[in-house]
Amino acid sequence: MKVFKFVRIVILLMILASVATTVLLQRDITHDWTGTIDIQIIPIIADQADSTRRYVEQLSLDYFTEIERYFVREATRYQRNIKHGLHLQLAGPITAVPPVTPPPSSSALQIAGWSLKLRIWAWQNEPANYHDSQVRLYILYQTPIQGESINHSTGLRNGLIGLIRARADARERSLHNVVISHELLHILGASDKYDLETGQPLFPFGYAEPDKTDRHPQQYAEIMGRSIALTANKHKVARRLNQTLIGDTTAGEIGWID
Ligand SMILES: [Zn+2]
Repeated sequence: MKVFKFVRIVILLMILASVATTVLLQRDITHDWTGTIDIQIIPIIADQADSTRRYVEQLSLDYFTEIERYFVREATRYQRNIKHGLHLQLAGPITAVPPVTPPPSSSALQIAGWSLKLRIWAWQNEPANYHDSQVRLYILYQTPIQGESINHSTGLRNGLIGLIRARADARERSLHNVVISHELLHILGASDKYDLETGQPLFPFGYAEPDKTDRHPQQYAEIMGRSIALTANKHKVARRLNQTLIGDTTAGEIGWID
């Protein structure tokens, strides 16, 4: 019995060591911007509605290439040439849904447990050409009942996995690209810059132009601040990438500023 226990512990330690090495390797690759970050977009048909399936089946890479252009444009403002910095690919749709995201009020242990379950799920549902330094963005398309809200999206730096909740609705295509870019930035090391309770962008880091003479209304949203601050306590969610900027703090977090 004792031998089995010892073997089990050794195996567990080996798995943990391999996870830790992979995490460190992934951090290097996604932080120095000298190579190309390989990004797989994996659509999920997340409910039984025919409209969801039809929507997902007609998706093409064109829907997402705006994200690449946005990163190139924003990097230029920080004197970074990342013309080949991101490489987006669209995988075939899957129907497997990931483990349910715990509510924000969950304990650290519950979140850690979910994150482990998610990584096992992602390992079981990885795209055919998956490699360790690839970013996987799973987009869960749904057709919610009118008025029903959808769960929040997540981007995990450890494991380079994003879970994006989206409505199977062409009118929300540009909003989806804002959410995808936001979660991708989390994966690359950026933090949220809005009040988690009210949604109000935090001054100054969550403002696109914190130094503007008239502070309000702002014209753009800082992408990790999510919304355009209209007054000190009123905001409007940015629904198009061209309404957002990558601010200095975020640029520093993802390695664009030394
Ligand atoms: Zn966020």
